[in-house]
Amino acid sequence: MVRYCRNKVKIAIVGAGPSGVYCAINILQLFKEIDFKDYCLDIFDKGQILRTILPTGNGRCNLTNNIADIKEFASNYPRGEKFLYSLFSRYSNFDAIDFFHSIGIETIVEADGRVFPKLQSSKFVKDKLLDKLNSFSNVRLLNKKINSKDDLKLYDKIIVCCGSRSTKSLIESFSHTCVDFKKALCGLKIENSSIYPKGVSVKSLDGDFIFTKDGVSGPLIFKISSVNAYKNFPYEIDINLFNFEDLIDLSNRFPKKSILNLVANFVPKSLALVLVGSENKKAAEVSKQKLISYSKLHLKVLSCSSMGEIVNAGGVCLKELDKNCKSKISDNLWFCGEIIDIDGFCGGFNLQNCWSSAYVVAFDVVSSIINK
Ligand SMILES: Cc1cc2nc3c(=O)[nH]c(=O)nc-3n(C[C@H](O)[C@H](O)[C@H](O)COP(=O)(O)OP(=O)(O)OC[C@H]3O[C@@H](n4cnc5c(N)ncnc54)[C@H](O)[C@@H]3O)c2cc1C
Repeated sequence: MVRYCRNKVKIAIVGAGPSGVYCAINILQLFKEIDFKDYCLDIFDKGQILRTILPTGNGRCNLTNNIADIKEFASNYPRGEKFLYSLFSRYSNFDAIDFFHSIGIETIVEADGRVFPKLQSSKFVKDKLLDKLNSFSNVRLLNKKINSKDDLKLYDKIIVCCGSRSTKSLIESFSHTCVDFKKALCGLKIENSSIYPKGVSVKSLDGDFIFTKDGVSGPLIFKISSVNAYKNFPYEIDINLFNFEDLIDLSNRFPKKSILNLVANFVPKSLALVLVGSENKKAAEVSKQKLISYSKLHLKVLSCSSMGEIVNAGGVCLKELDKNCKSKISDNLWFCGEIIDIDGFCGGFNLQNCWSSAYVVAFDVVSSIINK
């Protein structure tokens, strides 16, 4: 290393996931634009480069979201919303989309605003990012686990972006506080799961979900798990299945019909059976209170299940970072991506955190070198 990079600025990136690779490409690109060559960049990863992008979006890679307003975009992060205003104002979802187009990744926008590569392939995104990275010199990829800051003594600038899986001790080795990691965007195990109709999907007023073998999953449940990431188990949730006034209206119009059949107008019959239970009376015999109770699903949540995107809430404490994600504690140290205490809902928000924080870090690292 010493001979290879004598008299040059030595930069280390720890982690070759989406944020590490995006940061590296942008550092290399920014230096190229000003024809600066007196640096070398090493990227460390204990595993295979960009392997963590492969499962994203069920193999389709939900790159980002199409929401135009920065504040509205940032409202999709239960942790980190305000910190992101500044990152997004300097590098937005549209900047990331422009970058993807520039390296040959065409994109499509789905009806709900999620942005995917037109080829619907995370492997394609991985290959294109790698092609771009390999188009530069001055960069090495090293297959090595970094255990603490002591492994990086030779480097002048250090960027840590190794995600949120078993990185607490690494964060603490840099004297930073690590906000406890908690699972978010996961399915939930529930009490009495066996009484619910396994595999049945429900479109509720709050969002869509599905009953699984031990609980519930789907977009609504991921959101609930994310919002409640720091709640202690067990906790209770209510899901608004349908508007109870519509059921009251139906029961007034059809008092002789069975309540089960009326409830089944709003939810799958197998769920209506659970809600109504053995009290399958005529509609006229059911109290208003009871009708209202059928419109809500009350669940006791026992723990997270292994389904879903499963990002981790928690990570490097935001108070210890400046607006460029640079450490306020150690000089020449930056963090980006999921290792920071920022996490978003499903919809491309977690990858956008990677693209924006990685770009802002790249710009700041390059500025710190050329403005020395
Ligand atoms: C199943 C699944 C689907 C998802 N789908 C989407 C989606 O469609 N859209 C979206 O926005 N988000 C999605 N996410 C979330 C998204 O994948 C993550 O937010 C994103 O990968 C975080 O990127 P990162 O580079 O910060 O960290 P990571 O992707 O975790 O990468 C960190 C890298 O650092 C390496 N590393 C870790 N520790 C060390 C160490 N000590 N030394 C050296 N190397 C180390 C790891 O090997 C890894 O390669 C999904 C997540 C999952 C699990």
